[in-house]
Amino acid sequence: MPTYRFKALEDVLAREPKKVEFPSNRASNYYATNVFSQEVMREYLPKEAYTSVMASITDGKKLDRAIASQIASTMKDWALSKGATHYTHWFQPLTGATAEKHDSFFSPISGGRAIEKFDGDNLIQQEPDASSFPNGGIRNTFEARGYTAWDPTSPAFVIGNTLCIPTVFIAYTGEALDYKMPLLKALNAIDKAATDVCQYFDKEVTKVNANLGWEQEYFLIDKALFNARPDIMMTGRALVGHNPAKGQQLDDHYFGSIPERVAAFMREYEIEALQLGIPVTTKHNEVAPNQFECAPMFEETNLANDHNLLLMDLLGKVAIKHNFRVLLHEKPYGSVNGSGKHNNWSLATSTGVNLLAPGKNPKTNLQFLTFFINTIKAIYDNADILRASIASAGNDHRLGANEAPPAIISVFIGSQLTQMLDNIEKNVKAGKMTPEDKTELKMSIGKIPQILLDNTDRNRTSPFAFTGNKFEFRAVGSSANCGKSLITLNSIVAKQLIEFKKTVDAKIDKGQRKDEAILQELQKLIKESKSIRFEGNGYSQEWVEEAKKRGLSNLKDTPRALKIMTQKETKKLFEELGVFSEIEMDARYEIDMEDYILKLQIEARTFGDLARNHIIPAAIKYQNVLIKNIKGMNDIFGKEALKIAAPQLQILKEISEHVIHLKENSDKMLDERKKANKIDNFENKALAYCDKVKPYFSEIKYHSDKLELLIDDELWPLPKLRELLFTR
Ligand code: ADP
Ligand code: MG
Repeated sequence: MPTYRFKALEDVLAREPKKVEFPSNRASNYYATNVFSQEVMREYLPKEAYTSVMASITDGKKLDRAIASQIASTMKDWALSKGATHYTHWFQPLTGATAEKHDSFFSPISGGRAIEKFDGDNLIQQEPDASSFPNGGIRNTFEARGYTAWDPTSPAFVIGNTLCIPTVFIAYTGEALDYKMPLLKALNAIDKAATDVCQYFDKEVTKVNANLGWEQEYFLIDKALFNARPDIMMTGRALVGHNPAKGQQLDDHYFGSIPERVAAFMREYEIEALQLGIPVTTKHNEVAPNQFECAPMFEETNLANDHNLLLMDLLGKVAIKHNFRVLLHEKPYGSVNGSGKHNNWSLATSTGVNLLAPGKNPKTNLQFLTFFINTIKAIYDNADILRASIASAGNDHRLGANEAPPAIISVFIGSQLTQMLDNIEKNVKAGKMTPEDKTELKMSIGKIPQILLDNTDRNRTSPFAFTGNKFEFRAVGSSANCGKSLITLNSIVAKQLIEFKKTVDAKIDKGQRKDEAILQELQKLIKESKSIRFEGNGYSQEWVEEAKKRGLSNLKDTPRALKIMTQKETKKLFEELGVFSEIEMDARYEIDMEDYILKLQIEARTFGDLARNHIIPAAIKYQNVLIKNIKGMNDIFGKEALKIAAPQLQILKEISEHVIHLKENSDKMLDERKKANKIDNFENKALAYCDKVKPYFSEIKYHSDKLELLIDDELWPLPKLRELLFTR
């Protein structure tokens, strides 16, 4: 009889790739066919309704009820034609995932008949029974009142038989209960601040969009192996498992050929993603075995973020059809790289200019440098807030583990731009500049090449790197809602741009020339923010020491990283920009800490289960085999058995020692967990889980992994890492 573990492996080996046909050989034929796009609206809506909805999309104008009903009716007909039977308000609760509550279009009427019904009210506002979504004490649970409201800037779409309407999720008292609402507010803040600064350079600019191009990393695991690993099933990661003889050291997976079963899965999700208007263009193997990446063309941030959430959901659903499970955890396997999400960020004007791309002449380059340097200063001033925006139990395993950027926030800009900033730092004179000085500087600024050479070999170890025409924020966790870090990034840059404008305006009011005022202020910012710039190896120990000397933070765990969100200055920043109220910030802090506690609690329980119910029993089973053998040896050889059976005796003893430690550590962990659970204050509870409970995790793993090396392969109950990573 094969054990459960061998059965799982047999299942994997017996799998055939699923057949997936392309709907057409041209993706352009089916791109966005499941989206209620502007194109569809223009075609089907009455003119007045179309103009109204466009005004709502571009200028945030409120939609009138009558118009909403017209849109609803058109949307319903379109959705029915796509085979939809239900509709849902699709929203982003603070759990990080997306949520939906399905309602039927079907509505019985008198005389035993029925119609398909969907009106303006159903479109604009819904009240999901949302009492069990985390709200950090904003809503009293018994009231359970939060509502969702349509976000017309992100188009509705059909998945399967459901029309999905992207919505914000708000408490009746007005506080946001999701990530979308504050993201829209942050995008509004950066739009305003950046548009104001643009007036120095181009009065035609009326709007600035923040763009986001995400790259999503994930692991695939066969369904049978997933189900045979209680830890992966419960926590999304392998809590135990000895490193396989081979990991990723040969780099043979990166950009290698994609296995046929995986290729079929990719084909299917890609087709669905394209039909949903997600412009996915890139897919490849990542560094670790069974790790992959997917990236689309960048888009406006709110839409791009909706698309990322939709894609994460899609990956999961399509994977199941192919007998896979997707792991979005930041660190599923201890011995190989974890998964992140790179957020590529840039600012684009209504006139079609990328403000983070070097231009063709001194004027556009001064504009570029203005946004570039202000961004660096914003990161310098608010590095801890940015660090907090990516803090999670999962990401704690990744940051600083020599694969992802470290928990120390720094900015990489490449040698050419470093030279440029050094040049400004040295050559801008205080007071009035002579015409010669200015000409020289302008010449030099005009010389920034449009293609920056050293950004092609991009420093991969930097958490925040300039990559030619955008910044790439690489420390975001793979399972995170990108909204979280982009709310922060856009807010801190907005705040910096507002301050910049104020200072430069004051100089101009005092009679200084505009260019001179800008340059002198940029020089000041360059000097002040210098210590956040780092061009070296972010994975090295030297950097940890150097960063410490520079006074940069290195916040390694979530509870400590989140603390900054409770500080007065932080609250003031978000409040002044209109992004968060104090109540919202307190609520979010509590929710994030709660999430951390719950994740660790689940891991601790699973560790206990693994030790007591899987590993120790397997150890005892093998000990019994050994004991029987030693007894038999004794029967045959008498005293001499002690010598002949010495290896068996030795293994028997070693197993006992590890079993003792395993039991001891899991008992101690249980005690600490009980103590932690009794703590009422969530801050202290999170710290107790971090400092008192978590340290036992590595102890338990250590002894379990040693046992894995001692026990008969046939008796080991869990699929091993080599099997999880290499069986196909
Ligand atoms: P990498 O080497 O980091 O994998 P890729 O070129 O594969 O880089 O991916 C870059 C990502 O950056 C893509 O998602 C792309 O859409 C995005 N991107 C490119 N230009 C911009 C821009 N101006 N603003 C935001 N994102 C961008
Ligand atoms: Mg990247």
